[in-house]
Amino acid sequence: GLSSRLQNVFSKLRGKGKVSEEDVTEAMREVRLALLEADVNFKVVKEFVAKVKEKAVGKEVMDSFTPGMVIIDIVNKELTELMGGTQSKLAKSSKPPTVIMMAGLQGAGKTTTTGKLAKLLQKQNSRPLLVAADIYRPAAIKQLQVLGEQIKVPVFSLGDQTSPVEIARQGLQHAKDNHHDYVIIDTAGRLHIDADLMEELKQIHSEVKPDEVLLVVDAMTGQDAVNVAESFNAQLTLTGVVLTKLDGDTRGGAALSVKAVTGCPIKFAALGEKIDALEPFHPERMASRILGMGDMLSLIEKAQSNIDTEKAKEMERKMRNAEFTFEDFLEQMDQVKKLGPLDQLMDMIPGMGKMKQTKDLKVDEKQMGRIEAIVHSMTTEEKQQPDIINHNRRKRIAAGSGTSLAEVNRLIKQFDEMRRVMKQFSDMMGPKGGKNKAM
Ligand code: GDP
Ligand code: MG
Repeated sequence: GLSSRLQNVFSKLRGKGKVSEEDVTEAMREVRLALLEADVNFKVVKEFVAKVKEKAVGKEVMDSFTPGMVIIDIVNKELTELMGGTQSKLAKSSKPPTVIMMAGLQGAGKTTTTGKLAKLLQKQNSRPLLVAADIYRPAAIKQLQVLGEQIKVPVFSLGDQTSPVEIARQGLQHAKDNHHDYVIIDTAGRLHIDADLMEELKQIHSEVKPDEVLLVVDAMTGQDAVNVAESFNAQLTLTGVVLTKLDGDTRGGAALSVKAVTGCPIKFAALGEKIDALEPFHPERMASRILGMGDMLSLIEKAQSNIDTEKAKEMERKMRNAEFTFEDFLEQMDQVKKLGPLDQLMDMIPGMGKMKQTKDLKVDEKQMGRIEAIVHSMTTEEKQQPDIINHNRRKRIAAGSGTSLAEVNRLIKQFDEMRRVMKQFSDMMGPKGGKNKAM
């Protein structure tokens, strides 16, 4: 995929001392290929590469001891910019209810996303109303009702014999009468864009005057998703895009091109069929994910909502300074266990996603117990200063924990690697911790 291709480009540079302009040109050629292969729009790629190259050539890169890191940093920033820079929030009407109209082709995920969005809003203590305005697709109304029941959000419907415009109008009135603060209108899609569909959407639009028109597009369709967004946007001024099916084997091209081509920000990303698989879209996190740096921010956010915040802050600081010890490691393992499936978490930690792929570094829940035993067999001094753990100490630890010398060696190697990756990550983000305030 895109991320491993880019990682290859950068690991070639990483080992180098000084880089020449040819090195940068070569790296940019590969970045260009990687993006094109990921189905990013051709024009977008061209402009992107030109921008990165301009910033990379000349400046600090050539003089830096870690030119690869400087280039990654530039690419990371430009990718973030490409996707809109900062997170684009959902509009909120000063005169409730806020009206959200969903649009998109059939099968893109409109109805599912309608339910997911309601769930997100509900979590923020809002009282959304869903409106079933797809009267064409068999069972579309039922599908929305089932979702509504699941999350206990009311669904307004007038069956399939009333026009969608009239359903939308009455739905909005119902929301006002019942003091809902959000109305989400689920509309019909077609397999292809056609005049009838657009006409109907325009009519609904002029009837309810939505605060948000969210276009739902399937990320798996790559370049097509971008074309669809362009056509919809030309006829029905969109306020945001929802990228669905990012959990699948997408090449990432849609996420990278949509904003640049349409000017319309991606507001949400859907990562699965389940009702809670929708999240606000963060350009900077997506950029990090693409670059294979894992998603530290998501991890830390997740940690903060599940973990003691004081501890989480301390953990952040230590990770940033690469100061953590085996004692912290143990504590983190405890905390991590509370967070959920280990596999998912590993993907979020820089370097870990890649490490996971190598068989001997595979960590599962059962193995965590053995790792804990090893760390518990260390003395306090060893936990705090892992560098002193020489061969004899390793043998003692292996015997004490009922594991093997090979396992102890492996863990220490893994631990060193983790510290190294984190150090790189924090160096890359700059001495003050980069621009990501949330960290
Ligand atoms: P609509 O025709 O636009 O309303 O699309 P639906 O909401 O009915 O979704 C079409 C199919 O895509 C359904 O099977 C959904 O479960 C599935 N789907 C929607 N969003 C996602 C997603 O983010 N990930 C995955 N894997 N499937 C999704
Ligand atoms: Mg639908």
